[in-house]
Amino acid sequence: MSAPFDEPLGDLRRRLERQAQQLGMHSFAVTDAKPATRLADYLRFVERGRHGEMRYLARPDRLERRRNLATILPDVQRLIVCTLPYWPNRYHEAEDSRTGTISRYAHCDDYHRAFGERLARLATTIETSGTHRAKWYCDTGPLMERDLAERAGLGFIGKNTLLIDPRRGSGLFLGVILTTAALPIDERGRMPNCGSCRRCLDACPTDAFPAPYELDARRCVSYLTIELKGDIPLALRPGVKHWLYGCDDCQTVCPWNRFAQAPTAPFKAEPPKSASVVDLLLLLSIDEAEFRRRFGKTPVARLGRRRLLRNAAVVLGNVGDRGALMPLQRLLRDRDPLLRDHAAWAISRIVRRLGRSDVSTRP
Ligand code: SF4
Repeated sequence: MSAPFDEPLGDLRRRLERQAQQLGMHSFAVTDAKPATRLADYLRFVERGRHGEMRYLARPDRLERRRNLATILPDVQRLIVCTLPYWPNRYHEAEDSRTGTISRYAHCDDYHRAFGERLARLATTIETSGTHRAKWYCDTGPLMERDLAERAGLGFIGKNTLLIDPRRGSGLFLGVILTTAALPIDERGRMPNCGSCRRCLDACPTDAFPAPYELDARRCVSYLTIELKGDIPLALRPGVKHWLYGCDDCQTVCPWNRFAQAPTAPFKAEPPKSASVVDLLLLLSIDEAEFRRRFGKTPVARLGRRRLLRNAAVVLGNVGDRGALMPLQRLLRDRDPLLRDHAAWAISRIVRRLGRSDVSTRP
């Protein structure tokens, strides 16, 4: 409910949309504050344990906040959903026996911060327009952003479980602002769907989709290389292929990404090759300070050097040649059993490919 000195809601909405465009957001839509439409699917995902080690996803307080958005912001009336594109025009993938690939979304500054700063400015506009309150999230809270974006009319959920904007593809960061301002709601237009296409399901290197529209995160290469803290399961390591951090396979094959639009600042339309392709043999020798210098501002920093080296060993086990043997043997002497184990696995894979029997997998 608006107080007499609040800015008229229609004016506020127009001002917010203009500001969002100026901040580089490609889409802006307002929807009601009902719980996510696919909440039941999400609960099944958690019941089946498909969230793996991401235990916070199953926390009862978090589930309750997903069910009832007023527990996050009392008197919430509307959700504003915005997108910021990250799918670059030009992209490099590792193509030889000593390089690994970083997923497209991680080429630039950490989006939690870069996008968060922009959402915070929109929230400030709301809060300074009168008596309204606002709270924002970009993959930082208990919201089902994709579901809410679909309901706001920004796209449809594909069989790969991602939001697909038919005019922009799926390479989008999603941000949501909860507000007590009862802004005018957008009409949801008709949306296409995946039809008979199943390219993403067939392209997934680890069979992480048990069925269309269902993801088993425990098998997903993004989960294995980013979220998983310990050993990458042996059976899934070959499916990691050249992916050092994250995976784009189910998006790369998606025909809707032909319509991807160039990212705007702070993301780069044409990031340098060094943003996506990493020399794994050099990586194995970097120390903590060098890791911070190279990856400090990007999402890779959250992974930490230790798990990035674990991933590097797995990629070398998949693609490496004899040149990787010596750096991996040095890793066998590391104090960390996680690194020793993955290095030994990688050496044994390379040795098998080379048909050699004179290389030890012991320190
Ligand atoms: Fe849908 Fe095909 Fe894209 Fe998968 S690849 S999300 S099935 S359109």
